[in-house]
Amino acid sequence: MSKFFFRNLFRCLSIFLLFISNISPARSSSALAAWALNSNGVLELRTKSNSKLKAYFQKGGDKYGDRFWIDFPGELKNPRTIKGNGLIKEIRLGKPIKGKTRLVVEFSENNKLKPLNWRLVGVDQNRWKIKLFSLSRNSFKTIGEGIVNKTYKKYKRNKKTINSQERNYDFLKLPDIKRDKFYVVIDPGHGGLDPGAIGIGGIRESEVVLDVSKRVKKLLSEKGVQVKLTRNNEVNLDLRPRVAIANRSNADIFVSIHANASRGKKRDINGLETFYYSGWRGRLLAKKIQKNILKVSPGSPDRGVRQGRYFVIKNTRMPAVLVEIGFLTGRLDARRIEKSIHRKRLSYAIAKGILEYLSKIG
Ligand SMILES: [Zn+2]
Repeated sequence: MSKFFFRNLFRCLSIFLLFISNISPARSSSALAAWALNSNGVLELRTKSNSKLKAYFQKGGDKYGDRFWIDFPGELKNPRTIKGNGLIKEIRLGKPIKGKTRLVVEFSENNKLKPLNWRLVGVDQNRWKIKLFSLSRNSFKTIGEGIVNKTYKKYKRNKKTINSQERNYDFLKLPDIKRDKFYVVIDPGHGGLDPGAIGIGGIRESEVVLDVSKRVKKLLSEKGVQVKLTRNNEVNLDLRPRVAIANRSNADIFVSIHANASRGKKRDINGLETFYYSGWRGRLLAKKIQKNILKVSPGSPDRGVRQGRYFVIKNTRMPAVLVEIGFLTGRLDARRIEKSIHRKRLSYAIAKGILEYLSKIG
């Protein structure tokens, strides 16, 4: 895409996709259950669990103000317009096309919004928030419909759901692939003086990802895959040598394992995500791993398979991904990751994703 095109697109439309979540639910009634635009500028949403949302922004013109909208799966029953106040002209709920729901926030004029800083965050399997503006107090009155802060029912009400899924030993079954054919480099993030993220109770990213990486190595080795770890213990290792290890050895794939931390260490932010840099192979590998790690992490949000420009996946010459196994600052994820049994599950899941990928391309 040329620069010119991009700039033009930006000026004429200024529509950008802010976030997409990953799981598509069955087509049915609207996935939007409740919403509130709070006086502090935060838009909160409650949806069906694991809904796929898309958010957009459009710069205003002569006849209309800036617009922000989110599309939800499922069809809205009663399209309606809710009168705004302050800088919000109105909020519209509609069905732009059959089977969809759209929530539009229409601003009254150009309000110096900073949409590039906006980020729709999945707070829970069924809750979302995005900060749209900051204002002096009392200049905007909260509007909304329904109760936005109901937590994901199945998870809160029925602990059994999770336990029964956790007792499911399916994750132990790994597929066979051709032996002595593949070479994989696993990169445990950080290490030594660089602990990476530090989470609840002082849990350290460098330690948990090393443990998971070693387990993945063992599982893959048992399947006849040659595996090299970029580090075997708590040592400081620059990003460049990590890449060099993979490029020098002509590895088939490179998998960097990390754990997340949220800004401000918010305990209600949990979730898993897998990044790739480019190419269908990297994307496929990321998808296989993401699918499997989600299966062993019930209740934790799917933050999706996404493109990322991280040094280690950008500079490696083979399909490369960076896996975030959960938030060490998140209540749900941290409590799990600190347990050896969960790290074992995650290791099986990552190994399974890798084996599924190798059997497909091999
Ligand atoms: Zn990290």
